[in-house]
Amino acid sequence: MPCKFSDAFFNIYQEGRIVYIESTCGNISCLAEQLEIGGVEEEGDGICRVAPGVKKKEEAVTLLKRLGVPETKIAVENEPLQLEVESGFSGRRVLVCPVCGSTEIVVANVAGLMPTLYRCLRCGYIGRIVLEVELPAGSKDGSG
Ligand SMILES: [Zn+2]
Repeated sequence: MPCKFSDAFFNIYQEGRIVYIESTCGNISCLAEQLEIGGVEEEGDGICRVAPGVKKKEEAVTLLKRLGVPETKIAVENEPLQLEVESGFSGRRVLVCPVCGSTEIVVANVAGLMPTLYRCLRCGYIGRIVLEVELPAGSKDGSG
């Protein structure tokens, strides 16, 4: 039985020449299992990463899509693929929880040596992956 991915986002990022995919440890071990690769590294707070052995971030996106991960659950360098907004949008940016989609995100640690950790007030997610979404500057009334 193949494992199943949870609702958590996959974030693809590059560190030096290595492209990593990070997500919850459950998702990453499932990913490693499906790709039949090893080398899952735990980053802490339930977040793991794995290098899928691709050279470009785009290839990692293709890889995830081939495994059935929808674009709405893939982010590259913390920018979600599908929520990417056109320039010209001058709205305010909000942080979105990668697990439940809530915008009730608070910074969990004080600025210091560690990378910023975020905490979701709704589902309790703690981690350094959050999504930034831009809201329209003004909201329009009416339906449609
Ligand atoms: Zn949440």
